[in-house]
Amino acid sequence: MWFCVKCGKRVPKEELIRGYCIDCFTRNIGLLERVPEIKLTVCPKCGSWLYQGEWNLPLPESEILESVTRHELRKYLVKDAELQALRVSNLEYVSFNTVKFNVVLNVLVNGRSLSLDHELTARISRKQCPRCVARSTGKYNYLVQIRFTEKDLPGELLRGVLSAVLAHVDRDGLINAREVPEGVDLELDDISTVKKILDVLHKKYAARINTSFRATRYDAHQGRWIGVTTYVARIPVFSENGIVTYRGRIGLVKFMNPGKLILWFPSTDLYEEIDIKEYWRGLLKPASRIEREVYTVKDINGDMALLENTSTGDVKRVKLKGWLKNLKPGDTVNLVKVDGLETFTPRS
Ligand SMILES: [Zn+2]
Ligand SMILES: [Zn+2]
Repeated sequence: MWFCVKCGKRVPKEELIRGYCIDCFTRNIGLLERVPEIKLTVCPKCGSWLYQGEWNLPLPESEILESVTRHELRKYLVKDAELQALRVSNLEYVSFNTVKFNVVLNVLVNGRSLSLDHELTARISRKQCPRCVARSTGKYNYLVQIRFTEKDLPGELLRGVLSAVLAHVDRDGLINAREVPEGVDLELDDISTVKKILDVLHKKYAARINTSFRATRYDAHQGRWIGVTTYVARIPVFSENGIVTYRGRIGLVKFMNPGKLILWFPSTDLYEEIDIKEYWRGLLKPASRIEREVYTVKDINGDMALLENTSTGDVKRVKLKGWLKNLKPGDTVNLVKVDGLETFTPRS
């Protein structure tokens, strides 16, 4: 049998900690060499918290205290003691910036697992985090300008672009969204949100993006220029049932999918899926000036038709192929002229 060196109580050897019984060890030695002084700063606006020079994501106060206490206690635990678990409870504000709380520690000392209660005090100062400060002064680091290749926009295009953009961003990173005559300006302070927005604009709307940087001041501390990075995302404008030219043919936009157009080519009566990016290669263009003339089918002879311009009386002989095969005498069709190209289309 062994004895506690402090109180003389008989104790089995495996229950001794450094010669003490558990009671004497916790009373005389304890687990902490010193009671830690817990200090931290919390942003009153968003709840982010500053600890050891770094702002961390918002958490409930008890979880913030748990995290900070865990860090602090490691420094003050007695030698050979290992912190295994920690739980904070009974938070109580004793003044505006002082909170008392209870912490239950599970610690392993010399192979023995001990559980101990401590009452600790934390000083919490309140200060707005840099992000909230920037936001309240309207400062932003990134400007995304959504622009279009045409002045006259179908209203649903702008609304569609905006809702697609906003659905893909965590609004926390968005400071301001403004409608301007040429489109929309988004002011942001978070590069990952900017990247998500640009990705949507590029993939879904085939936007071409130009980047520029405007320095506002030199930060000697960081050794670099601070300023605003501007991304101009220009979106090609097409509309359903609109007329386009594609590689020397006139086409009608039948459907619009993300980044794609489904075109119908009257000359061949075929549908094709075209990547909107072809716009940027100069191969796909919305028709800017369209002339339309109305013709009436006067006569059909084998696979040839005689068409007469209803206002000028001009006559054309046309081979009946593609959709034209279904024409009957008396039908009317449009002759559409775009950029020196022409084709017959049904009158809708
Ligand atoms: Zn003892
Ligand atoms: Zn904040």
